[in-house]
Amino acid sequence: MRVDVIDHTRDPDRTVAVAARLCYSPAEIADLGEIMDEEETARMIRMLRERGHMSPLEHASFTVGIEGLSRSASHQLVRSRIASYSQQSQRYISQRGFRHVTPPSIKRDPKLEEDFRQHMAESRQLYERLREAGVPREDARFVLPQATASSIVMSKNARAWLEWFEIRMCTRAQWEIRTLAQRILDELHPLAPHLFANSGPPCEGKGLCHEGDHSCGRIDQVIMDRLPYRTARTGPQDCEEG
Ligand SMILES: Cc1cc2nc3c(=O)[nH]c(=O)nc-3n(C[C@H](O)[C@H](O)[C@H](O)COP(=O)(O)OP(=O)(O)OC[C@H]3O[C@@H](n4cnc5c(N)ncnc54)[C@H](O)[C@@H]3O)c2cc1C
Repeated sequence: MRVDVIDHTRDPDRTVAVAARLCYSPAEIADLGEIMDEEETARMIRMLRERGHMSPLEHASFTVGIEGLSRSASHQLVRSRIASYSQQSQRYISQRGFRHVTPPSIKRDPKLEEDFRQHMAESRQLYERLREAGVPREDARFVLPQATASSIVMSKNARAWLEWFEIRMCTRAQWEIRTLAQRILDELHPLAPHLFANSGPPCEGKGLCHEGDHSCGRIDQVIMDRLPYRTARTGPQDCEEG
């Protein structure tokens, strides 16, 4: 799997911080940039995330290109509606000799891996036969496995990325999309260190777990490690709404 950042808002941290500052400042928009040094930018973004005032984060956008993702994972990916996608078409692009993704659980066992490889080879042969018999690409693709590798370009704003990282970096998420989420975060974090600080699964970022009986149990350790911080952050005496 390969992940590349194609484009992003210039100076995303600052763009968000300036937009947010406007909400709380009588200053002219042109002057707001002067006030927002690195420290103030960090403080403003931290405050927005802690208060859940998330709409200013929508001003920063990031576009990534993803290659070598299985169709199985890309199907999960495109379920997120607050995003834009362009995926390589199996109607217009021949899938002859398609690449595929092998899950680690299959790779672990050489015999299973061989059976899997064989199945992929048979799918390629059947696809080929169908095409040679005049079946159009849009119908021949019906024999392609979910393991077929795909390429996709997607754009999301910082708020939507953060919410997606929470859901898809949870250990309960499927391994391939979790790997993808980690790779994307690794790319985006250096571009916007304040926006993406402490992002990831809610247990690590917020000290919360929504998985109930299905929890992996990591939350217990996180709470043990951060108990003083949690108490200070969530106590009513600290409510920033006044
Ligand atoms: C571990 C896991 C298991 C899953 N298993 C399944 C499964 O078995 N079957 C299945 O079908 N899906 C499954 N999903 C997909 C899941 O149900 C969501 O479709 C997907 O995660 C997109 O989430 P979202 O709707 O929050 O995101 P987005 O579509 O990006 O939306 C972001 C947010 O915008 C708001 N929003 C967007 N659209 C609406 C709307 N129409 N009305 C109101 N608010 C809206 C919501 O607050 C939403 O959280 C699973 C997801 C995960 C993480």
